[in-house]
Amino acid sequence: MSLSHEIPSYLTSQGIGPWGVYLEQIDRVTPHLGSLARWVETLKRPKRILIVDVPIERDDGTIAHYEGYRIQHNTSRGPGKGGVRFHQDVTLSEVMALSAWMTVKNAAINVPYGGAKGGIRVDPRTLSMGELQRMTRRYTSEINIIIGPTKDIPAPDVNTNEQIMAWMMDTYSMNQGSTSSGVVTGKPISLGGSLGRREATGRGVFVVGCEAADKLGMDLKGVRIAVQGFGNVGGIAARLFAEAGARIVAVQDHQTTVINENGLNVPELQEHVAKYGSVAGFAEAQELTDRTQFWGLDCDILIPAALEQQITGKNAHEIRARIILEGANGPTTPAADDILHDKGVLVVPDVIANAGGVTVSYFEWVQDFSSFFWTEDEINLRLTRIMREAFAAVWQLAEDKKVSLRTAAFIVGCTRVLQAREMRGLYP
Ligand code: NAD
Repeated sequence: MSLSHEIPSYLTSQGIGPWGVYLEQIDRVTPHLGSLARWVETLKRPKRILIVDVPIERDDGTIAHYEGYRIQHNTSRGPGKGGVRFHQDVTLSEVMALSAWMTVKNAAINVPYGGAKGGIRVDPRTLSMGELQRMTRRYTSEINIIIGPTKDIPAPDVNTNEQIMAWMMDTYSMNQGSTSSGVVTGKPISLGGSLGRREATGRGVFVVGCEAADKLGMDLKGVRIAVQGFGNVGGIAARLFAEAGARIVAVQDHQTTVINENGLNVPELQEHVAKYGSVAGFAEAQELTDRTQFWGLDCDILIPAALEQQITGKNAHEIRARIILEGANGPTTPAADDILHDKGVLVVPDVIANAGGVTVSYFEWVQDFSSFFWTEDEINLRLTRIMREAFAAVWQLAEDKKVSLRTAAFIVGCTRVLQAREMRGLYP
């Protein structure tokens, strides 16, 4: 038996869950990779996995331990890049998949990064601000050995924000002995953050949504949109679509689903969430008693912007939207992809649809290195141009090869990664 192809046990045991979804996506793209397919195993093995223990002293004097991860999936095209998630359901399989999707996304949108991701299995709502800060700083110290402005650059993801990035930047800088703003992106503007970064992912979802609607001859005015997840990505995307004349008819978050056929008032709903932590209890809406009904709601565009594996073989057949814009990473399973394809639903995949965030993260990193900061107009113009061009290229490839937009985006991304792998060669 040849040992060279034996799959390490920590990889096989992650076969189900998000990593399993990612592996199936890679299997689907492999026949389209030509001679580069001989390198495809590279994409099925993360380059580096770091699992860390994150102990903190709680406010009541007890000691709590949390499990933290930082995974660099691939660095063939540049330093690792990807967010950090604080969530009670974070697993190795999830962080592996999220890091791999970053590899494909960064290549598909053509920013000079590899893919990485991090996370801590914790419900941050159970921590005080002091505990949250101590946990963030201890986690940063533990992963300090592999991150850095030219090595791996974290950013915000679910339940992490500008404040968390500021603590990460400060902790890394204290350990280095000098201020290192380029170690994270999504920082506050006062610490070298970029204008437009906070809105960038939602704005990118909006830009590709306009392009997709245009392709289907759909007018945004009066279009009905349902959004799952009303945080950074879903909230901003909803706001931009509403400003363009669309009606946001339903929003689901971790607690409940609110609906209003006449369109929810998005700025007021955002204020409500800022105050109460959820859309629950919003006055000008009804609440769905059964949250699974969300998927069958009558709408034209559906934006999953929460977590992965939400649209599955079980609920995909209920979906009535004509377009799905994947604000979240990995929201649709391959089984659901097949059902949606048969129903004629256009799925704009995560690796293009939500790439606006990493694109402006790239702008932030460039601005930090040059210590020269751009205007918000410049940033939004460049972002819009990059997103439109990426969408157009993927659309054309999908037409030429008669494949889904997901497979087309994976062809673009995986080809770039494996070309870099081949050009660099194996060392030694
Ligand atoms: P966030 O923490 O700002 O918001 C998450 C939202 O999802 C909240 O409204 C929360 O209530 C909701 N949510 C959580 N669990 C849910 C559940 N089980 N059902 C329904 N809703 C639920 O996070 P975010 O930054 O907006 O990230 C959302 C998604 O977008 C994630 O998949 C993330 O990986 C992806 N993403 C984020 C960025 C970014 O720049 N922040 C970039 C690219 C992709």
